[in-house]
Amino acid sequence: MNLLKERILTDGYVLGKDILKVDRFLNHQVDVGLLNEVGKAFYERFKDKGINKILTIEASGIAIAAITAQYFDNVPVVFAKKFDSVNADPDSYETNVYSFTKKRNYSVRVSKKFIHPGDRVLILDDFLAQGRAAAGLIELVRQGGGEVYGVGIVIEKSFQEGNAYVSSLGVEIHSLARIKAFIDGKPIFEEA
Ligand code: 5GP
Repeated sequence: MNLLKERILTDGYVLGKDILKVDRFLNHQVDVGLLNEVGKAFYERFKDKGINKILTIEASGIAIAAITAQYFDNVPVVFAKKFDSVNADPDSYETNVYSFTKKRNYSVRVSKKFIHPGDRVLILDDFLAQGRAAAGLIELVRQGGGEVYGVGIVIEKSFQEGNAYVSSLGVEIHSLARIKAFIDGKPIFEEA
């Protein structure tokens, strides 16, 4: 998605070896016009999958999922919640996720009220790095008897192993921008 790549080049900045900050337009200050285009692109890619629910993870995924959902027909957004503790909650599906940015494990939960057998779920998130967040969301859907019909990612860092890991779970991934390297503090995109 060219608009997104151009924006990453103008307003994104690299921290350390492998973190891209996009807080000027995606996950702190939010450019709603750009997110509308992101939502349309996800809709075009997944519109034929019979999606009946969009699942994401708090906090950065919520705006992306909510805007994307407007292009689908009456599809609710559910966001998994993050907890530090791992005290089991009998009313929730729960799994553990290792945070790439915070370098620690946390628990993610979705109430059993919101995932059901037969659900056809699209998972959306802002970044794909090692694939742990996406894998955790896939696990929650499967605990609830639903099926994941795709993972949509705004920015994939394809030099990390997330794509291979999530693909190994049998789920199709579509990323709108794929970064193959950071060279001299500048993102280099995969072709196409
Ligand atoms: P993963 O679970 O794939 O290792 O990492 C994905 C999650 O970590 C995303 O939900 C995102 O919040 C965060 N993340 C991973 N890499 C980056 C990055 O380069 N920049 C930002 N801002 N967040 C990232």
